[in-house]
Amino acid sequence: MNVLVMGAGQLARMMALAGAPLNIKVTAYDVNSAKVQHPVTGEVYPLTLEQAVAAADVVSSEFEHIPYPVQAVCEASGKFLPNSTAIKAGGDRRQEKALLDQAGVANAAYRIIHTESEFYAAIEQLGLPLVLKSALAGYDGKGQWRLKQPADAADVWADIAAFMAGAEHSLPQAIVAEQFVRFDREVSLVGARNAVGETVVYPLTENHHVNGVLAVSQALPGDTGLQAQAKQMFDAVANQLNYVGVLALEFFQVGDQLLVNEIAPRVHNSGHWTQQGADTCQFENHLRAVCGLPLGSTALVRPTVMVNILGEDTVNSAILSLPSCHLHWYGKGKRPGRKMGHINICGDTPAQLAERFLALSALLPEAAFPEVADVAKALAAKV
Ligand code: AMP
Repeated sequence: MNVLVMGAGQLARMMALAGAPLNIKVTAYDVNSAKVQHPVTGEVYPLTLEQAVAAADVVSSEFEHIPYPVQAVCEASGKFLPNSTAIKAGGDRRQEKALLDQAGVANAAYRIIHTESEFYAAIEQLGLPLVLKSALAGYDGKGQWRLKQPADAADVWADIAAFMAGAEHSLPQAIVAEQFVRFDREVSLVGARNAVGETVVYPLTENHHVNGVLAVSQALPGDTGLQAQAKQMFDAVANQLNYVGVLALEFFQVGDQLLVNEIAPRVHNSGHWTQQGADTCQFENHLRAVCGLPLGSTALVRPTVMVNILGEDTVNSAILSLPSCHLHWYGKGKRPGRKMGHINICGDTPAQLAERFLALSALLPEAAFPEVADVAKALAAKV
């Protein structure tokens, strides 16, 4: 099978690596350079988008911010999985909120705003604090504002108005004003749905963000009530979209209640632990789903933690002397804050994992891995 992936980053790369044993050949289309390339070696093929789409058995995606004209070419081929409706819902918070409402899935109360009077009406109707998010091109906490007190409203609106005026987008921009959720923690669910509507999900993952970017994910076996609630929400969203492939749902947990924060119509950073911790990793399951192969078991085979490597192109190689510690580089050029790679560390038991994670965090400098040592200590204190 030949799978063409929109986007040529680390997710396409890890799909290619997972697909090789199944004889699934993954090719990537870099939407910025308009080049068709090998997602691991970077070798460029002399093909146009249309030629690459024609040559592929399946067209898929590793990110949601794909220009609409490129999506139109993919959709017209009749082999775009997941479909364009799902990709657009992931890339536009207006469509995402509408989807969650249609699927009957709990999410933070919100208003869509375009004008100053709508902004003040949203403050009136939703109350403060508010989180304001650009509908388009917002991810990892970018294009977001917090409004805590009425006295700051004019300044926040001035910032938002300047952002909207300067936004380089072919699509109309808007802001989603959301009620601030006082969550206990953030968790996510990664799963897969195939073309006949079967779904499988991995165990819920607890996520720790630093400056709005994912820093640490930890697979959470055990809480069957929460897992069942998340699975029901996953099925509702995936069925609503007639989704095929891997889909991720990010949640706020408030008490024992989950609210969907956002969806990602693709393999997800919070699912990277599945490479070492699950029976079938998310990259293989995505390829299985889009290629019409049986879905693989999502069972947790051993407790695992993933640590992101942000803005660094080296780590202390002594981490590889820790038992069950695995390093995944993405082969990218170094830039501040950029996702450069990740580390997966596993234990046979939660206690062994906690011990190993502490040893790992001691080898990671605080400046490059802020708060990771605190997360490791908190985990060790819990087991
Ligand atoms: P997002 O880009 O929507 O994932 O938001 C980035 C981060 O901001 C989330 O991971 C949360 O930590 C925080 N956040 C987003 N929306 C809200 C909200 N409505 N209430 C509280 N925190 C939020």
